[in-house]
Amino acid sequence: MSSPQCAHPSSLSVDFEANLITTGRLLLDRKLAWGTSGNLSARTDADTMLVSASGTNMGELVAADLVPVRVSDGTWSGLRKPSKEVPLHIGIYQQRPDARVVLHSSPHYTTLIACSNETIPSQLFIETMYYLERVAWIDYAHPGSAELGAMVKAAARNAEVIMMRNHGVILFAESCGEAVMRLQTLEMACRMIVEAKAARITLGKIPNQIVREFLNSGRYKPCKPWHSVPAQ
Ligand SMILES: [Zn+2]
Repeated sequence: MSSPQCAHPSSLSVDFEANLITTGRLLLDRKLAWGTSGNLSARTDADTMLVSASGTNMGELVAADLVPVRVSDGTWSGLRKPSKEVPLHIGIYQQRPDARVVLHSSPHYTTLIACSNETIPSQLFIETMYYLERVAWIDYAHPGSAELGAMVKAAARNAEVIMMRNHGVILFAESCGEAVMRLQTLEMACRMIVEAKAARITLGKIPNQIVREFLNSGRYKPCKPWHSVPAQ
């Protein structure tokens, strides 16, 4: 890969920047992000991602807050320093060529569940079947550490949602819209789990075979390559 890819490719990245700025605002408006917690990125070509700068508020991003970082080695260019959690984003892009957008945040109910021993079943409702099909859990490691980056990278091999204990979530998708929908679904599912417990309601689950049929049919959204893998 030639070095100019890591220079700020302003003419090519306008759409990426606009999409990330809009996504950051959406996350704040929908209470899926708060303060300066969390960060987001998009892959702009095979070896470049744009990631939010250190200390930025997701709801107030401007183009200058989006830093080009090389996926292969984490080097970056520009005036702003990227988020210290770059290793998480790099790990996902290195592991999954299909990842185009990565969101990391700590919404209230998701983080509550991340601090508990609860599980997040995908068999609850339509959106959980599709967006939360593969959820992985990893233990706590300090933010920005190479250890956390390595754990996220390994977990991303077979999951699109990675719950980080006592921290929050990092998830990815092929577009900003799909990534936001995945995060909204996760937060809603976590809220349901918490509220059902408080109200002593037992949540019914869709049988695994029906979930599998639903995913393989592609009736709701396009079938993903891993949907044809039989249920474990
Ligand atoms: Zn974090």
